[in-house]
Amino acid sequence: MKTSIIGYPRVGSLRELKFASEKYFKGEITASELHRTGAELRAAHWKIQQENRIDYIPSNDFSFYDGLLDTACLLNIVPQRYQALGLSPLETYFAMARGYQGEQGDVKALAMKKWFNTNYHYMVPEIDDSASIRLTGTKLFDEFLEAKQQNIVTKPVLIGAFTLLKLARYTGAKQAEDFVSEAAEAYVNVLKKLNELGAEWIQLDEPQLVTDLSKEDLVLFSKLYARILPAKGNVKVLVQTYFGDVRDGYRELQGLPFDGIGIDFVEGKKSLDLVRQYGFADDKVLFAGVVNGKNIWKNKYKNTLALIGELQGLAKQLVIGSSCSLLHVPYSLKHESKLSADNKSHFSFAEEKLREFAELKAMLDYADPYATETYIHNETLFNGSRYTVNEAVQARTSALTDADFTRLPAFAEREAVQKAKFNLPPLPTTTIGSFPQTADVRANRFSFKKGAVSEEQYKQFNFDKIAECVALQEEIGLDVLVHGEYERNDMVEYFGESLDGFIFTEYAWVQSYGTRCVKPPIVWGDISRSKPMTVEYSAYAKSLTDKPVKGMLTGPVTILNWSFPREDISLKTSALQIALAIREEVLDLEANRIEIIQIDEAALREKLPLRKSDWQAEYLSWAIPAFRLVHSGVQADTQIHTHMCYSQFSDIIRDIDAMDADVITFEASRSDLAIIDAINECGFQTEVGPGVYDIHSPRIPSVDELKQGLNRMLDKIDVAKLWVNPDCGLKTRGVNETWASLRHLVQAAKEVRATL
Ligand code: GLN
Ligand code: ZN
Repeated sequence: MKTSIIGYPRVGSLRELKFASEKYFKGEITASELHRTGAELRAAHWKIQQENRIDYIPSNDFSFYDGLLDTACLLNIVPQRYQALGLSPLETYFAMARGYQGEQGDVKALAMKKWFNTNYHYMVPEIDDSASIRLTGTKLFDEFLEAKQQNIVTKPVLIGAFTLLKLARYTGAKQAEDFVSEAAEAYVNVLKKLNELGAEWIQLDEPQLVTDLSKEDLVLFSKLYARILPAKGNVKVLVQTYFGDVRDGYRELQGLPFDGIGIDFVEGKKSLDLVRQYGFADDKVLFAGVVNGKNIWKNKYKNTLALIGELQGLAKQLVIGSSCSLLHVPYSLKHESKLSADNKSHFSFAEEKLREFAELKAMLDYADPYATETYIHNETLFNGSRYTVNEAVQARTSALTDADFTRLPAFAEREAVQKAKFNLPPLPTTTIGSFPQTADVRANRFSFKKGAVSEEQYKQFNFDKIAECVALQEEIGLDVLVHGEYERNDMVEYFGESLDGFIFTEYAWVQSYGTRCVKPPIVWGDISRSKPMTVEYSAYAKSLTDKPVKGMLTGPVTILNWSFPREDISLKTSALQIALAIREEVLDLEANRIEIIQIDEAALREKLPLRKSDWQAEYLSWAIPAFRLVHSGVQADTQIHTHMCYSQFSDIIRDIDAMDADVITFEASRSDLAIIDAINECGFQTEVGPGVYDIHSPRIPSVDELKQGLNRMLDKIDVAKLWVNPDCGLKTRGVNETWASLRHLVQAAKEVRATL
């Protein structure tokens, strides 16, 4: 059995690339030093794959920032404003990635978007009418030759023409269809060059194929490859898909002269059925993704061997691999000194997954793989107990009834009760929760973690910060106050650390974008809350003021979406467990005079399945109820807020309303306000606070522009429903601009109120 890797993480097991890049950006190291770090990482990654006998080792999966940006640069998709800077190729590349402000000019970065259903972000290639797509770069070939010098004949990897054209943004009149011949020609030249260099395979990544495809999409795909594939020569072409199944294009793929088709059997729910139903061409190699490339749990060989067994009967030529690039998992367990041996025995990060391929391969060499020691060891692990069970939690989730998901009285009645109780002015003003996490706030937390200050000192510092923050909010005249979230490193990690059932790593970083990595918590067992997590700080803030103070929590769906989930129970079950734990916190806050509680669901929108037909059944049908479970137990006069980032939820607007919060605030200032039209049209009952200014820049908005923003919202939204707040993320801003901007916001609200 041969094995293939789609892509390997790039930033280094200790984030070497991140640190080198950041030094380079600050001018502390030279371009050649940065290149040396890149070369060292590539060599190390190739070597470890070779040691694990991987047959198809990728190259060009390395990137200084992002693979789609690399593809754009390889194919001359560099907008004029970046070319005009007259910088070196590397500097031009970073200008597109991060923006440039200096002697050569001032340009913003390309837009960034989430890569399918992952937390990785890609740079959106921008194509205008004057663009000329053609092969001008050499990175793909350079890295192939670099590996060849190390005696490794790699499989170069490139984003395919279809996905490239579909993900690009068109700023002129021309659209994807207008670039078919140019783009195809560019890929033809890539193939020609690889023929010259003696490559055996190329992997063209076409993840766009796992989304809902229209007839036009399929025509575009076929047109591109009908032109590209005749240039194959001696190079074999693998079209690689991942993150789902290719139900819309399976037959087109079989019909085109690809030499290999990469199919994901982990996330692709219909993949196996497709192969069963339509067969798999004898002259093609099936590259089957059988090991989860996105999660950190060990592979269960029993299931994988059964799957491989069936696939061997269906496809004449079979290669096994990961379900997607290993970019989405951390590097290695080897640096984790604090995890227990028991924990570690269940995990498999990128390096350990390579070992799994070596093991699968070795097992498959035996007539009876099930008799091997490797197999028996794996079965023992999965049959053993994992100390994850909390019977009380399981009893509670299984005893839930419809009533637990229904808040009473209904919205309209609550709204009236709350209006009478809080007696807020029209257009009430508030913020989304956090206030600037200045250096002293972070230093205090680090000192506490290191044991340099006592818990008492640590808390006292936070209490003082809260007092200062509450006093300032009162002084500038905000209507609903917050405590400022000074105690939180991160909105998910904070809760994960306080809940039982999560575990944390030291080095399990995963690239989010460019040099930014995240370290998601791991859902290890049943989740429960053993003690209040936020009550002390919120209650302290409330003790300082007569104004309402919003308690601040993260919702179950967001906590789950930003963690590595369990695979032994469903996402739904985990979400309900987390929901029950957060529900206890909500009720404790309510019992401690916190009359308004915000439950952030920042990441609810982002895990919407790639296919529309899966939205309800796979996701919303449990995500929305999980949120309702969190707040259904409060009194009518306790006001529940929620918050969402990226306001692109027009298409699930009714589901958002069905969360049955009393108020939703969302990030809106950079959107085209399309969401406000959607709210207007659908009879949205929840009160709304669309962010009225962008906090991603230190700019202080003027009172006039804030008034204009509010008036524009008032054109579409009933004044009785509208709240006034900035976008989320004040924790990343400086102190001065934050307070100056908020003063303007309160002033603008007052002036608009006067005109009502
Ligand atoms: N309450 C959080 C904050 O204000 C919300 C963060 C977010 O929207 N991602 O920071
Ligand atoms: Zn947000």
